[in-house]
Amino acid sequence: MKFTHTPRLTIVVPCNNEAPVLPTTAPVLADLLTRLMHERAVATDSKILFVDDGSQDQTWPLIAKYTQEDRIFTGLKFSRNYGQEAALMGGMQTASAYSDMIITIDADLQDDPRLIPDMVAQAHAGYDVVYGVRNDRSTDSWFKRTSAEGFYWVMGKLGVDLIPNHSDFRLLTQPVVSALMDCQERKPFIRGIIPQLGFPATKLYYKRQPRQAGVSKYPLRKMLRFALDGILSFSIAPIRAVLYAGLVICTGALVMLLWILVQHLRGTVVTGWSSIMASLWFLGGFQLIAISIIGEYVGRTFTEVKHRPRFIIQTDTYTSSFARQQSQ
Ligand code: UDP
Ligand code: MG
Repeated sequence: MKFTHTPRLTIVVPCNNEAPVLPTTAPVLADLLTRLMHERAVATDSKILFVDDGSQDQTWPLIAKYTQEDRIFTGLKFSRNYGQEAALMGGMQTASAYSDMIITIDADLQDDPRLIPDMVAQAHAGYDVVYGVRNDRSTDSWFKRTSAEGFYWVMGKLGVDLIPNHSDFRLLTQPVVSALMDCQERKPFIRGIIPQLGFPATKLYYKRQPRQAGVSKYPLRKMLRFALDGILSFSIAPIRAVLYAGLVICTGALVMLLWILVQHLRGTVVTGWSSIMASLWFLGGFQLIAISIIGEYVGRTFTEVKHRPRFIIQTDTYTSSFARQQSQ
């Protein structure tokens, strides 16, 4: 998309208990954005939007303080913790009415903010999606690296086009954001959906830094749930695989049954109690797996048909900052 006027940029920052790092992050982002405004790369009423995703610490009081001190800062407070994806969707949905482009970035400065001016330059060059891609994973543990590789491999096999080593650091222009908002599912797997939307896209590489302060919000349990969400929300391949395996096993069992019948008719007593027990247990176990996978999809259908809101906003100083401007 080529801009006909100086585009308004909103930087959306999801925050869950990020009070230790916000005093570092806020000035870094504000300096960058102010410089972009002076260079006329972005409109002078561009904003930083902190989305407080149900923090229990001083995150919201800090955000409220920033918004009072400087008009560049705005905030959105969720009524409780809804997760990073919901925080991103909430921030983007709120900002999309007033923004020509949106950049999403983590609060902990692991994503290099110095990439932001380059992202904006790529948007001016006509790209609608600019992915921030990490050029190495040396700051990750061996486990996180290997499990991420495994995840990309599985998603690739399932035919989902993911950008390897790209997380949630990206620029989207307004048309992409509104297309993303049209995806009505309750649990959107954002990094899987965006490549599917099909806008002109490019990548910029950066070195991911260690977290500046605070702790990671992704323990193993949350990471596994995130990976499972990604796989199940994009593909019914697992259920197909179980179906085929079930068919093969049933055919095998049928052949075995025939063989036993023949033995019986010949008058040979069928021995091998253990083999029967083994197959019984095996089939029982297999059925449980199959049922649990079906259950996953049924569960998902259940969640989707409820059409519950993805998040509930408690306070929004972003929208009101523009309402204030208009009434002035
Ligand atoms: N986050 C959030 N809600 C959550 C979990 C995380 O908004 O329920 C935010 C968090 O504040 C941070 C970003 O998502 O800005 C990435 O989280 P984190 O840095 O903990 O993940 P990691 O880098 O360890 O994968
Ligand atoms: Mg982080």
